[in-house]
Amino acid sequence: MSDVPPSHPRYASLMTREKVVEGVERGITGRNGLIAQGRGEAFDYLIGERTTAAAAEAERAAAAMLLLAERPVLSVNGNAAALVPGEMVSLAKRIGAPLEVNIFYRTEERVRRIADHLRSFGAEEVFGEEPDAAIPGLDHARAKATRGGIFDADVVFVPLEDGDRCEALVRMGKRVITVDLNPLSRTARTSTVTIVDNVVRALPNLISLVEEMAGWDGADLAGILEAYDNTAILRRSVEEVITHLARSFSPLDELSPP
Ligand code: ATP
Ligand code: MG
Repeated sequence: MSDVPPSHPRYASLMTREKVVEGVERGITGRNGLIAQGRGEAFDYLIGERTTAAAAEAERAAAAMLLLAERPVLSVNGNAAALVPGEMVSLAKRIGAPLEVNIFYRTEERVRRIADHLRSFGAEEVFGEEPDAAIPGLDHARAKATRGGIFDADVVFVPLEDGDRCEALVRMGKRVITVDLNPLSRTARTSTVTIVDNVVRALPNLISLVEEMAGWDGADLAGILEAYDNTAILRRSVEEVITHLARSFSPLDELSPP
């Protein structure tokens, strides 16, 4: 890790970036993961690098959906493995779900490294190293999935998923929860529940929510899902960006030279 001082105003963002760079150096994250991270940072900047009210509501719905699921699976790609490995393992344990390594630019070596990385954080059940099924409608490399894992899941939590694969999972009748800072992406618009938040904030939030709601009545959890409207959440996320930008404009104005 580089020597960014904690007092640096952009410390959190810079440390997150460092983790992705480290993931690439360790062969866990693909090089394209750096571009995805940069894109995420730009959207995070626009939204004010905070969990908005809309994101908090989506996180609540996601927690309810995970707790109600019969066969939930948590999908892990190279960026999630670099940024929130311990949190993914901890969430999996709390809801009794397996993890599945699911990467866009697949190499067997990288799948194995990610699986080992998750096991080093205490993961008990990690799928993905021996895929034995194909998600319909995707080309061979991208279609790989595992029976008992994503292929048979009713709810898939898949942070930072590609739009096409997200759509293919929804077509299979699965409910898909994603985390994507771009509220306009195909992934965001296709998913059942879209959390427009940084994974580094969304995962700790989800863990606390699952802890809080674990003892709830099934009917109360179902009530949250019935009231949930993902299109409205995406619209509100875009509005949060507009409001944040409008609010940020005046101090910038004062800073500009006369
Ligand atoms: P589409 O979904 O429309 O096909 P895309 O947005 O998926 O396109 P990519 O660059 O492949 O394009 O995907 C990266 C996505 O992940 C971006 O939308 C980006 O905002 C999001 N992202 C990247 N890093 C993070 C992060 N740390 N937390 C949350 N979202 C992130
Ligand atoms: Mg996407």
